[in-house]
Amino acid sequence: MTMVLQAYRYALDPTVAQEAVLRSHCGGQRYAYNWGLARVKANLAQRAAEVSCRLAEADLTPWLNWSAYSLRKDWNQAKNAVAPWWGENSKEAYSSGLANLATALTNWNGSRTGKIKGQKVRFPRFKGKRAGLSCRFTTGCFGLTGGDRRHVKLPRIGAMRTHESTRKLARHVERGTARIRSATVAYQGGRWFCSFSVEIDRHDPAPTRPDSVVGVDLGIKSLAVLSTGEVIANPRHLDVALRELRRLQRQAARRIGPDRRTRRAPSARWRKTQTRIRRLHTAVANARRDGLHKLSARLVRTHGVIALEDLHVAGMLRHRRLARHIGGVGMGELRRQITYKTEWAGGRVHLADRWYPSSKTCSACGAVKAKLRLSERTFHCDQCGFVVDRDLNAARNLAQMVNEVTGGMSSPSYGATQNEPDGNPRKTRSTRAPGTATGRPGHQAGPTPHRKVKAHDTSSRVS
Ligand SMILES: [Zn+2]
Repeated sequence: MTMVLQAYRYALDPTVAQEAVLRSHCGGQRYAYNWGLARVKANLAQRAAEVSCRLAEADLTPWLNWSAYSLRKDWNQAKNAVAPWWGENSKEAYSSGLANLATALTNWNGSRTGKIKGQKVRFPRFKGKRAGLSCRFTTGCFGLTGGDRRHVKLPRIGAMRTHESTRKLARHVERGTARIRSATVAYQGGRWFCSFSVEIDRHDPAPTRPDSVVGVDLGIKSLAVLSTGEVIANPRHLDVALRELRRLQRQAARRIGPDRRTRRAPSARWRKTQTRIRRLHTAVANARRDGLHKLSARLVRTHGVIALEDLHVAGMLRHRRLARHIGGVGMGELRRQITYKTEWAGGRVHLADRWYPSSKTCSACGAVKAKLRLSERTFHCDQCGFVVDRDLNAARNLAQMVNEVTGGMSSPSYGATQNEPDGNPRKTRSTRAPGTATGRPGHQAGPTPHRKVKAHDTSSRVS
């Protein structure tokens, strides 16, 4: 039994009146966010001006406290003046916007001072009319309602019909094994959703074969190859949809799109096509996620240990030829799902070192090849003559690596041998000078960072 935080997300079927209330709440959220941001900006600008006038530190305008609590207090004092209509929405709408602002400012400040690592976080920007609609409720009367298990309730909005049954969560709540902590409504891909953040006691069955180790080689040609020899075919939802996508994009090209230079607004027909494109992307993403959930659930329920490669997905997505396919199978998502599901089921995930040469090692004798081209779909061992499918070989190596590591033995191939760039002539472009036109819009010519990533990651790790 483990206590976990889990989200339950339901598509909603709001009435026209309810949708108006939902939009009003999300608008209130945006208003409070922008109001708070304007105040913080004014405060920062005032201080900067005073510093440039060489005022002493003590004489400066004091910092504006931007904690969520303090922003909310200021809002409550100012709301009658700045937003006399505030009573139309639940107070949670404004709190939600101010809490988001506080988080954004904290992230920016943490990134600026080095407390938050990684990519620099920018200063928050004002939310425009087309910003994503969302609103979060943390207090008040929200949850599931109605005996039909088809309704959720939210403050001010009341009972709203869900598109699917809420049975699973309802049973947990009735049994007392789940507590709903917050509710977020959001408009995504043309639909309204309600997402509950739930504290839940999960009783997941332990893996049926706790001693079994399975190596999973995530790839492009097939979604995954298991060390058991099973090949999970790539659903290729995106490929099927791409034809339709191309058609819609041609359609959009014929219509009048926005022009930032001349400030031309897009036409209504262009927007209509964009909506269709968005809807298609959503459908593809939904189908893909469904397939990944089914695969990850099956693996976690069966095997005690799952060995995966620690793929540098973000780096591979920068690769211009592989990006679409890697994005298409959702490798990062599969790894994420397997990681949290094994935690629930009490299994274990073993991540191979990013440079572990799972494709180049012979799964029969352990010899490591110096070179293995992406185009070589079959592995031929030079030492023992073993012949096996490339992906199956990699999956077996991953499974074997777990045994070696847990058995305390250090293998000659584990950690010692790094993946050298193997200089695949078809993939390396070293001859192009910086600034050379590539004929590819939006892609810089010359020595771009993705090449280095590719040399390490994709040429020998992928597939
Ligand atoms: Zn061999």
